[in-house]
Amino acid sequence: MTDYFNIKSYFNDEQILIQSTIRDWVDQRIKPEVGKYYQEGKPFPNLASQLAEIGAFGLIIPEEYGGLGMDYLSYGLLMQELERADTSLRVMSSIQTSLVMYAIHRYGSEEQKQRYLPKLASGELLGAFGLTEPDFGSNTAAMHCHYKEEGDNIVINGSKMWIGNSSECDVALLWARGPEGKVKGVIVDKTLITNFGTHVFKDKMSFKSSITGELVFDESVLPQTQILEKTNGVKNAYDCLNVGRYAVAWGCVGIAMDCYETALQYSKERIQFGKPIGTKQLVQKKLAEMITEITKAQLVCYQLSVLMDKGIANYAQISMAKRNNVSMARFVASEARQVLGGMGISAEYPIMRHLMNLETLITYQGTHEIHLLITGRDITGLDAI
Ligand SMILES: Cc1cc2nc3c(=O)[nH]c(=O)nc-3n(C[C@H](O)[C@H](O)[C@H](O)COP(=O)(O)OP(=O)(O)OC[C@H]3O[C@@H](n4cnc5c(N)ncnc54)[C@H](O)[C@@H]3O)c2cc1C
Repeated sequence: MTDYFNIKSYFNDEQILIQSTIRDWVDQRIKPEVGKYYQEGKPFPNLASQLAEIGAFGLIIPEEYGGLGMDYLSYGLLMQELERADTSLRVMSSIQTSLVMYAIHRYGSEEQKQRYLPKLASGELLGAFGLTEPDFGSNTAAMHCHYKEEGDNIVINGSKMWIGNSSECDVALLWARGPEGKVKGVIVDKTLITNFGTHVFKDKMSFKSSITGELVFDESVLPQTQILEKTNGVKNAYDCLNVGRYAVAWGCVGIAMDCYETALQYSKERIQFGKPIGTKQLVQKKLAEMITEITKAQLVCYQLSVLMDKGIANYAQISMAKRNNVSMARFVASEARQVLGGMGISAEYPIMRHLMNLETLITYQGTHEIHLLITGRDITGLDAI
């Protein structure tokens, strides 16, 4: 395992167990087949039930609601190990945990928590997070999707675009503008809503093993009791995204590990000019720079997990970690692809698949540019967004 600075020495027994258990499961059950499904543009079969079985839904949610009540470092390690196989695994676990269960646990009523969290933890229900709209991506605060109150119900109009699990979800955590213009979170339960539709975006070149699409509301009627009453503006959606971005930062370390380990192995086996290519200085330069960048990203993740577990991580720190680690993984994957020469583009190896997924990771949950401007705003006090 790639751990040049022995970061594992900071992990407790439980964290070591989580990492090794998930790593073994991924290596034995997922990695041998995952590339094939990606090529076919299909999700890994029965992924939701398998993730629920290994505890990947709600790891940080208290046990009384069906979660495992574990810490953020454990959650980060779970994200890392899942994304080593394929981004689609980390995405499904993270949408469910960081974006849907976290939102309901933090902003839901006791009744909503009891009703939804145990079923989301067990995989009986699958969630989606609906924030982005066709006309409002980076600028989600200006969203159009809205609802009005009619008796005991709300009537929702608008659409959400690029939504993970769109067609498969049982519940969608929708962010929509209420009667006074305030953005609220709403639990869209497919068994309770009328006039609601989904579309799947079929022609993706990235995230091919994840379902992505639209949520469409056309005079859709839902009981008012589905509103997360404690939500009070789009900032609450960003609170959930902080946990999602934390997951991306760790997941990218997993991607980079997989690419680096593949390139290192290949450099020892591939013979050119009578010697392994790993004997060449230019190949060693690539490998040395890869491990250096991975190590720096691991240290960022580790310290961020300490801040998260103390409850003192701020959104700008999370932003920086997400941006840095996506960029790091893109660099490592690109260098690794070159070490493999022509074989670098072959589906026999995972690198090209990771590279294609990284093209989404650099954009979603806040683009590379927006995260840079968040850092800029934080250090100068001046908003350039
Ligand atoms: C595969 C996939 C899955 C996704 N899953 C989900 C999901 O489950 N739920 C969800 O709600 N959303 C999801 N998204 C949406 C994602 O978060 C958005 O794509 C992202 O926030 C960017 O929005 P946009 O695509 O509209 O780009 P835009 O906001 O239109 O940006 C286009 C370009 O302009 C730049 N730009 C915009 N504003 C500024 C500025 N002020 N200064 C400088 N540059 C700027 C951006 O950085 C970018 O380079 C997903 C997206 C993808 C591709």
